[in-house]
Parts: sequence; C-alpha cells; structure tokens
Amino acid sequence: MAIRKIVKLGDDTLRKVCKQQEKFDPRLWILLKDMADTMYKAEGVGLAAPQVGILRRVVVIDVQDDHGLIELVNPEIIAAEGEQGGPEGCLSVPGRQGYVVRPNHVTVRAVDRKGKPFEITGEGLLARALCHEIDHLDGVLYIDKMDHEIFDDE
Ligand code: ZN
Repeated sequence: MAIRKIVKLGDDTLRKVCKQQEKFDPRLWILLKDMADTMYKAEGVGLAAPQVGILRRVVVIDVQDDHGLIELVNPEIIAAEGEQGGPEGCLSVPGRQGYVVRPNHVTVRAVDRKGKPFEITGEGLLARALCHEIDHLDGVLYIDKMDHEIFDDE
C-alpha cells in the first residue's frame, strides 16, 4: 500500500491537460493501486492522476455503491442527460464545498487497466463523480463551475 501526496489548489499540475495513457503495464497498475489507496485513506469518492502529480488520463472512483472501485483509463463522456444541483468538494481543495450543477445521468467510454474498452453509465452521485474526475484530466476544477461556495452554517 502506497499513499501518494495529494496536490493542492495553487499547484500548476492541477491546471494542465493530461496525456492519453498508452501503455498498459505494471507501472500503470501500480499507479491505479496507489491512487485507490490514496483515495480511500483520504475518504474521497474519486481521484484523478493529476491530483497525485501524474499528467495522465487515469481516474479512480468509488461512491460506495454496487459498482465498487471503478478504474477508468482515457475516459470520455459520450452521453449526458438531466440535471442535478448539489454540494461538491475535492481532495485538492480541502475544507471547501461548492454548489455545482451537473448532469444527472452520464455514460462514459474508457478502457480498463489492460486497454480493453468498456462503457459505464452512472446517475446521481456517480454521474457527478464521473464529471468531476474527468474534468480534472483537462485541468478543470469544480470551483470553476460552481454556482456558489457552501459554508458550514448554511
Ligand atoms: Zn477533485
């Protein structure tokens, strides 16, 4: 188990566009494992590679539903429907939350750790997490999209 350091707001790494992952080798599998360990340790529901300083299109998500741990390599949103508004946070923006409107259903096409294509559809929190993490791969943070900041006493 290896916990990686989570890059925080203010670091340029979070604002870069990530490259496609082209090799499906043990180096990728270690990254995926470390990202999952780091996400669980931080009690997050998702983590994107740039958040651990790696500019590759790699994401892990676990919203504690039937899907369990989801590993996405080179993901892209191919369909989005509906709308949901709600609170959102980010492990790279600690101690803050914002109200963000997202699609309520999204379908993502990605490849798995061996390069095999698959699709996943999520609704509600999973749809939100998919959008949030895939945004990270293009240097976009939820604070860019939020309607307003949410404070504890709200
Ligand atoms: Zn985030």
